[in-house]
Amino acid sequence: MNTVRPAAPQLADIEPYDPKYIPAEVMISANENAHDVPFELRREIEREVRKVAFNRYPDPLANDLRDLIAEANGLDRDQVLMGNGGDELLFDMALAWGGPGRTFLNMPPTFSVYKNNAQLTNTAIVDVPRLPDFSIDEEAVIARLAQGDIDYTIVTSPNNPSGNRVHTAFVQRMLEAADTLVMVDEAYFEFSRHTVRHLLNTYENLIILRTFSKAFSLAGVRMGYLLGSENVLREFKKVRQPYSVDAVSQAIARVVYANRSEFERGIEQIIAERGRVFDELNAMEGVEAFPSDANYILFRLGEGIDAGEVWQRLLDAGVLVRDFSRSAGLENCLRVSIGAPEENTRFLEELKASIA
Ligand code: PMP
Repeated sequence: MNTVRPAAPQLADIEPYDPKYIPAEVMISANENAHDVPFELRREIEREVRKVAFNRYPDPLANDLRDLIAEANGLDRDQVLMGNGGDELLFDMALAWGGPGRTFLNMPPTFSVYKNNAQLTNTAIVDVPRLPDFSIDEEAVIARLAQGDIDYTIVTSPNNPSGNRVHTAFVQRMLEAADTLVMVDEAYFEFSRHTVRHLLNTYENLIILRTFSKAFSLAGVRMGYLLGSENVLREFKKVRQPYSVDAVSQAIARVVYANRSEFERGIEQIIAERGRVFDELNAMEGVEAFPSDANYILFRLGEGIDAGEVWQRLLDAGVLVRDFSRSAGLENCLRVSIGAPEENTRFLEELKASIA
C-alpha cells in the first residue's frame, strides 16, 4: 500500500504550531527571559543533576516540587499538579473537561493554543470576542456562562498577546455564574504582581495555571503547574502522561524555585523597561502601543504602514519580534517581548528606522 488514509477529521483545519522562531541577534519574539539562570544557581543545578539516576523513572508527580510550591502558596500537595510546561496542562484540560458534546468558552484574541486544544478534542467552541481595546466583554461572558452549558473556560491574566489583566471581581462573577471550570492562566503573573489565588479557598471551580518559562528563565526546561482543588486535579491526573515531567527537569526546577527570590531583580528590571518601551513606542508617529502588565507589548502600526513588511525589516536588521498581523482582531499588530535594556534600545531604534 503506498497511500495512507486521512488523519482524524478534526485535524483538517488545524495548522501545526509554528512560533516562527528564526535565529536572530536580538530574540524578542517568544516572551522568554532575556537572562539565563544566574551562574551560581547553574552550578547548584549541575550538582543536583549529577545525583539523578538516569536509568530510573522519575517521580511521576514530582512530589518534592509540589511540596515546595504548595508551601509557598499556603496549599496542600494535593492542590498542586506539575506539567511538562503549562502547555501540557492546557492540553490536559481539554482532555479532561472537553470532548465530543462538551463546550469551551474562549475570549479571543488570546493564546491560540486554547482553541487548538478544543479542536483536537472535538470540543465545541463558543467565542465571546474581546472589545477593540482588548478588554473582556464582561457582561457577554457572564450572560453566556449563566446559560449553564459551558464545560470550561480560560481567562488569561495578563492576556497574551494584548498584555492587559483581568479584574478580580469579574473572575469572581464568572465563578459564581455557573459550575463551569474556570482556568485563570497566570503564565505572566510575576510581571503583573496580581493573582486570584486567594479565591481558591472559596471556589472549587477555579484552577490557576503558572509556568517556570518566563520569570524563572526556564522556557527550555518545560515546567508548569496548576493550583486548584484536590477533586479537580484528580481528574487531570487521569489524563496526564504518567512521566511527562522528567527527572532532570524536576531537579532543575527544584533549585530554581527554592531560590526564586534571586529572580526578583530581573523581574523589576523588566517592569521598568516595559514602561520605557511603552512610552517610546507611543511617542512614535504611526505606532499605537497597548498598555501591558506582562513582559511584552502589543502594538499596532498606523494606516499606510504594513506590519508584515516592518516585521521583515526588523528581522533583516537582526531583531526578531512576533507578527500577529494576520490573526483575527490583531490586524497590523506586532508583539515585542521586553528584553535586556540594550536589546530594547536596539529594537526601538530599528523600528523607528523601519517606519520612517
Ligand atoms: N499560557 C500563556 C498565556 C502563554 O503565553 C504560554 C507560553 N507561550 C503558556 C501558557 C505556556 O507556557 P509553557 O508551556 O512554556 O509553560
